Amino acid sequence: MSAATAGGAGPARRGELAARLDAVRARIAAAARAAGRADEPELIVVTKFFPASDVRLLAELGVRRVGENRDQEAAAKAAELADLGLEWDFIGQLQTNKAKSVVRYAGAVHSIDRPQLVAALDKAVARENERRGAEGIPPRPRLKCLVQVDLRRAAAPGAADSPAARGGAAPADVPALAAAIAAAGNLELSGLMAVAPLGEDPADAFARLMVVARELRREHPDAAMVSAGMSQDLEAAVAAGATHLRVGSDVLGPRPPLG
Ligand SMILES: *Cc1c(COP(=O)(O)O)cnc(C)c1O
Repeated sequence: MSAATAGGAGPARRGELAARLDAVRARIAAAARAAGRADEPELIVVTKFFPASDVRLLAELGVRRVGENRDQEAAAKAAELADLGLEWDFIGQLQTNKAKSVVRYAGAVHSIDRPQLVAALDKAVARENERRGAEGIPPRPRLKCLVQVDLRRAAAPGAADSPAARGGAAPADVPALAAAIAAAGNLELSGLMAVAPLGEDPADAFARLMVVARELRREHPDAAMVSAGMSQDLEAAVAAGATHLRVGSDVLGPRPPLG
């Protein structure tokens, strides 16, 4: 199903998005209060599978930051909505051959999981700035990079990868990846991202993420972003100390099935 068949336009859709967005914002505020937090995490609305018209309505409702997980779809929406000045976060698994496209519109990539991707993104930003220079456009800022952490507990030796694998680097590999990002001239090491594994209390998974995040900040004090929490588990992420939430379906409605 194409993105154009989900969502919709017009006053009814606007009202629906406004009500859903208000409800999510209220949940975030309540979770922050319950956790005794003085601050609130930043909401990134995940607009994958929904049309550019929905993103435009969300921008009118005050959303400044949106997440996408497929380059082709994100590139088209970002181009169509360039007038809005939104911040685009890339949150999906990324092939190195898409780096060149992603750095044209994304301010941040949350899904850094291997050294080859660090090298490809660093080079892509350099090329993008050469292109901008040749066209008389100012250079883009450094690309914010988050290391995606695989929070599944270490599998038994010899066990096959779980079919529920949701990507990311093993916690033990985070320091080396972080160092590679920090050493890359066109990238900025911003922090960590994770998805809670299926079949486990997300509070336990996010507690493990916060341990990795504290270790990262010891080495890189500015890498303070913790991107965690989706529609189902945002309360647990707020309680654990997430700085950024990635919420899709509870704002936009159910996504059309994959395929
Ligand atoms: C789709 C997606 C989200 C949003 O999930 P919802 O359950 O729709 O809130 C968050 N993070 C990542 C990495 C995603 O792919």
